Amino acid sequence: MSTAVLEGPWCSALGCRDPADVVIDHPEHGHRTVCDDCAGDHEVVRDV
Ligand SMILES: [Zn+2]
Repeated sequence: MSTAVLEGPWCSALGCRDPADVVIDHPEHGHRTVCDDCAGDHEVVRDV
């Protein structure tokens, strides 16, 4: 029996394929799930 790994959401930033770390409140796109690198200066709503 293989180990089931629960894969979290992925960064929704264009061209980024990193696992998501946080949900940010984007002024144009609303809540976006992104990685730490893509979170930038946006307000973090919660961790993923
Ligand atoms: Zn990213």
